[in-house]
Parts: sequence; structure tokens; C-alpha cells
Amino acid sequence: MIIDGRAVAQEVRDRVKREVEELVASSGPRPGLATILVGDDPASQIYIRNKHEKSREAGMVSFDHTLPGDTPQEEVADLIQQLNDDDSVHGILLQLPVPDHIDGDAMTGLIDPLKDVDGLTPVSIGRLVQGKPGMVPATPAGCMELLRAADTPLEGAEAVVIGRSQLVGKPVAALLLRANATVTQCHSRTRDLAAHCRRADIIVAAVGVPELVTGDMVKEGATVIDVGVNRTDDGLKGDVHFESVVEKARAITPVPGGVGQMTIAMLLQNALTAARMQAAVAGRA
Ligand code: NAP
Repeated sequence: MIIDGRAVAQEVRDRVKREVEELVASSGPRPGLATILVGDDPASQIYIRNKHEKSREAGMVSFDHTLPGDTPQEEVADLIQQLNDDDSVHGILLQLPVPDHIDGDAMTGLIDPLKDVDGLTPVSIGRLVQGKPGMVPATPAGCMELLRAADTPLEGAEAVVIGRSQLVGKPVAALLLRANATVTQCHSRTRDLAAHCRRADIIVAAVGVPELVTGDMVKEGATVIDVGVNRTDDGLKGDVHFESVVEKARAITPVPGGVGQMTIAMLLQNALTAARMQAAVAGRA
């Protein structure tokens, strides 16, 4: 089975759109998503544009804060504080990477955890590791949604996550563990990557090395989620060698058309969750 990320992302966006209208109809807030982009990195501009377009399509209000590349860190911090205090903003997203003179981790850490739609504040990461409800980073949440869409048994499954970044590898491993998989986390110092992969029922590759995972490393019937986005002379490639792995896998995500489609959909899901949580907190106050 080739897992169709486009179709699954569309389903998530349709569901979010329906639930936004239900929230508003029940006197809840219309979710508001604010983005902060510092500088004029072309790739980031495209991501931000897409996020605004898709959030409006889902019935949300979007607030765009684009700041010049030389904006002092204090101004970014002040803006985050203003957005934290603004009741019409339910989600705040600081587009990474930020210019060198700005400490991206420190700025992310200023975001109110209730509005942390990227799931990258220490509070959100702590709650994820503790198995408590909270914001889950969008790309890892998308990987889990794709595993579910492919009816992948998770409980007791041997899962190998390749990569240990804060953004993808670590949260994916935490989510798989929460779903009762037995998780092995591999990285650049792992001694025999192929041996780990060969016993995996589930492989999630989040490495950034084109076509690192090949058919001979994959067990018959495994489910393979390819997070990699690598621009090569031969076009866009994942971290998985699709042609050889598709012969062995029970289900596999293509690149493009797989995980990449899910990130914005799951961000919208987080913005909706954030609006609900804030409405619940306001109701208790
Ligand atoms: P990253 O921060 O560069 O982390 C890469 C990880 O891979 C590190 O943990 C590294 O190990 C490990 N690694 C590198 N070479 C390896 C090797 N030969 N064998 C085993 N492990 C190795 O990257 P990232 O942010 O997690 O992103 C990973 C990939 O996903 C990239 O291609 C990125 O473009 C893509 N991505 C896609 C989306 C999306 O589709 N929406 C979102 C985010 C990222 P060490 O820790 O030991 O260095």
C-alpha cells in the first residue's frame, strides 16, 4: 500500500473545518493563528503563505507578522508577549530557522504553552514525554496519523526511528512509545543501522540523507514512514529508497505526497485544540 498523504491531510483539514464551525456554533471562539516570520528566507515565506491559506480555508482567522531580518531579539520577544496576551490569538507559531542574532529556542520558550501550536516549548515537550495531553509537534503528529490511516498495529510493535532531532525524531519516538510500541532510536553514531531496521515492524526515517534506507534493510511486511525531504540533482528524494523498499513494505509513504502533506493539517488541528483549551480555561475563570 502506498499511503496517500494528500488524501489523509485533506481528511484532517475537512474534519478540522467542520469542528471549527461546531465550536463557533456552540458559542466558542473562532480559532486565531498568528505567525511570526523574521527575515525574507524564500522557503519560509512559502511555508508561511501556505499556513495562512490553509488556516483561512479551515475557517480560522490568521494574523501575519513579518519582521525585517535585522529586528532586535527584544522586539520579537515583545511581539510574542503581545500575542500571548491577545485573546483573539489561540495559536502562535515562530517560523524557524530565525536569523543568527536571535535565539530561536529562547524565543520559542516565551510562547504561552496553551498557544504553542508547534509543540516545541519545554512545557509541551515535557507533557508529551510524560504522556499527558498537550500540543504535539505537527510533523510527528502527521506520522502517527499516517500510521493510523494505514491500519498499522502499534501495540507491541518493534518500531525503529532513525533520527533524534527535537523537531521530528524525539517526538515521533515519544508518540510511538505512548502508543505502546517498543521503540529503538537510531542516529549517526548507531553501530549497525541495517540490523536495527531489519527487525522493525515500523520504520520512521527522519534523517536528511537521500535514500539511506534501502530494500535490503527492510523486513517483509514492515510499514515505512519517510519524513526526509532532500533536494538532489535527480529531484526531491526521501530518506528511503522508494523503488527497492516498496517491494518489501506492507505500506510506505512516497516523497513527495506523504508526510510533507501532513504538517500543515496537523498544525490546524493543534490550533483548534488550542482554541478549545483556552475556551475551557476561560470558562473556569
Ligand atoms: P536533523 O535535525 O538534521 O536530524 C537528523 C538526524 O538524523 C540526527 O539525529 C542525526 O544523528 C541523524 N543522522 C544523520 N545521518 C545519519 C545516518 N547516516 N544514520 C543514522 N542517523 C543519521 O533533521 P530533522 O529536522 O529531524 O529532519 C530530518 C529530515 O526530515 C530532513 O530531510 C528534513 O528536511 C525532513 N523534514 C520534513 C518535514 C516535513 O515533511 N514536513 C518536517 C521536518 C523535517 P545525530 O543526532 O547523531 O546527529
